[in-house]
Formats: sequence, C-alpha cells, structure tokens
Amino acid sequence: MKIPAFMKTIRFRLALWYSAFLIILLLVLVIGINTAVVRSRPTIQVFSPFPSDSQSWQQTIEDERSRNMQDFRNYSLIGAGAVLVLGAVGGYFLSGMMLKPVDRVSSLAARISHANLKERINYQGPDDEVKRLADTFDNMLRRLENAFESQQQFIQDASHELRTPIAVAQTNIEVMEMNQKATAEDYRHLTEVIKLSLERMNSVNNGLLLLSEGTPAKSRWTKVDVASLINEVSAETDAGAKAVGINLELQPPTSEISVMGDAMLIKQAVINLVDNAIKYNRPGGAVKLSAYVDATSTIIEVQDTGIGIAPTDLPYIFDRFYRVDKSRSRDRGGSGLGLAIVKKIVDDHGGTVSVESTLDQGSIFRISLPKYQQT
Ligand code: ADP
Repeated sequence: MKIPAFMKTIRFRLALWYSAFLIILLLVLVIGINTAVVRSRPTIQVFSPFPSDSQSWQQTIEDERSRNMQDFRNYSLIGAGAVLVLGAVGGYFLSGMMLKPVDRVSSLAARISHANLKERINYQGPDDEVKRLADTFDNMLRRLENAFESQQQFIQDASHELRTPIAVAQTNIEVMEMNQKATAEDYRHLTEVIKLSLERMNSVNNGLLLLSEGTPAKSRWTKVDVASLINEVSAETDAGAKAVGINLELQPPTSEISVMGDAMLIKQAVINLVDNAIKYNRPGGAVKLSAYVDATSTIIEVQDTGIGIAPTDLPYIFDRFYRVDKSRSRDRGGSGLGLAIVKKIVDDHGGTVSVESTLDQGSIFRISLPKYQQT
C-alpha cells in the first residue's frame, strides 16, 4: 500500500504524538473521575436523607447514578473524539510553525549544486538547533569547496608536469624530422632526450601513484633497523653525490635503534631527503646523514650545506608540485613531489617531518618516527 507523502513528514508524526498525548491525559482524567464517583457510593448511602431500608429510593438513586455515569461516559467519548481532532489539527499547525525554518534551510540547500559550491545558506535567525544545522551545513560546504579546489589544482599541476616532457620530446622529434642532414649522432641525442622525458613522466607518474594510495596496510610493517637503513641509503646515493662534488657523510646511531614500519617506504623517504640535499647543494658542499633517539622518538636527520630555503617558502615546500626555483628543480630531474611523498610516508607511520633552514647556508630535515616498542 502506498503511504501518502504528507504521512511521511515529521509534521504529521508530531501531530499524531501531540493528539495521542492529549488523549492519554483525557483518559487519565476520565478514569480518575469515574473511580472517584464509584468509590463515593457508600458515602452517599450513609449520608442519604432517606431511610436505609427504603428499597425504592435506593433503586432511584442507583438508576440516577447509572444514567449519570452513562452520560459521563458518552460525553467523555465525544470529548475524546473532539480532543483527537483538535489535537491533530493543532499539532499539525504548531509543528508546521516550528519546522518552517527547517524547510527554509532545506530549500536553500537544494539550490546548491557542485557547480555553485560558493553559495552558503547564511541562515539568519536565533541561535537554536536550526541555526546550528545551517551553520554546520555551511562549514561542510566550505570544506567541500576547498577539497574541490585543491583537487582541481592538483589535476592542473599533474597535467602540466606531464605535458612538459611530452612537449620536449615532441619538439625534438619535429626538429629532427625537418633536418634533412641529420647524422647518427643527432639521432643518438634525440634518443637521449626522449629517454629523459620518459624517465621524467615515469617519475611523476610513480609519485602520483604513491601519493594517491591510501594508508598502507600495517600487515607489511616489520621491525626496521635504522642503522642498516641509513647505510643502504648512503650506499645508493654516494656515487651520485660524488659525481657532483658533494661529500656524503654518514653518522650511524651509537646503539641499536629500530622503528616499526614499511622498510621500503621509510627508505624511499630518506632517499628523497638525501637526493634533495645533494641537488640543492653547491660543489664542494657536504651532506650529513645521521640517526638518534630522544625520549619518545627515533630521528633520522639529513643536513646539508646547500642553498637553503627562504622563510617565506618554508610553509609550502611539502605541498605537491611546490618548487622554490622551478628551473633548478627541473634541470636536476625534480618532479616537485619529493617532499610531499616524504610527508605522506612519515604521516602514514604516525611520525612528523620538520625542517630548519637558513638561506645560503643550508638546511636540516628531520624525520621523527615513534620509538620502537616491544609488543
Ligand atoms: P623537487 O622535485 O623540486 O626537488 P621536492 O618536493 O623534493 O621537489 O622539493 C620541493 C622544493 O623544496 C624544491 O623544489 C626546492 O626548491 C626545495 N628544497 C627541497 N629540499 C631542499 C634542500 N635540501 N635545500 C634547498 N631547497 C630544498
């Protein structure tokens, strides 16, 4: 059976509850009066002015009483019916008045679509439940708008980042096609350019994939020995550092320290920091990789004597695709995702990453992870 729409409203339910409440009140009243009258019977007998043995008077009083009781019940029934109708109408009317602001809020909310997330309900009224509901809705819209905007920005940045190497490869191929006298050396150069472009796209793609992954499953976590981890990082990055005249110094922890986590990911985070420390350094500069513990955390520190970061840039360097010096970053194969990846990995492990930097003197990046606890 199809229930009419108005019966599914809060207004209708409130009207029903309201009349039910009135009926219960009336019933209590009626039962109370009824009981009182029945109980008063012996008293009437005792104080009756007629002789107690007078059967006919007794009968007359009894008849009168039952007629009165019958009338009382009939009126009560009519009263209950009237209360039911009046209660329902009154309840419907009253609840309509009370719920009017909710209707207003929902019709305002219905106007807002994904295309106009800037709209707000902006409800002006007393500071009651409805206002709180409208304000909560406005706050939710604000958060949605921010999320949409940053998603939009992210797509633009990612597409720009992928477009650049494609354009480089395309231009080089077109130049080569027009060159009638291209030599084998020219073709070797073209192959090198295309290879670098592909590597760049691959690196952006891998970075984006890593950033889009949810929090990795803790089932992959193991006890990670920090000394071995930084030794491996040093072994993998040392040749690259030497090639650009940077001295990579390793300061392993004095005692055994461990963290719980995904060894591959933590290593990736440390490699990103060391790569940056080499990339944004100067010839003859140094990078120091060390690890130690404090009261609550295990800290992996990467210190460099490089170009440093200006205080105005520091708050943004962990944002995706943020670069202080775009051309320097690109020249050195940067994708602008390195630090965002570090932050995501460290966040996923319940840690923090921080930076201290002085322009033209160098930077210190610190990954702080919860201390390993034996379970
Ligand atoms: P990129 O791929 O450009 O290196 P990152 O996310 O790793 O991207 O770093 C963001 C920006 O932060 C870099 O472009 C660079 O300007 C700055 N940066 C990162 N590490 C250092 C550092 N050790 N010294 C100076 N600047 C740095």
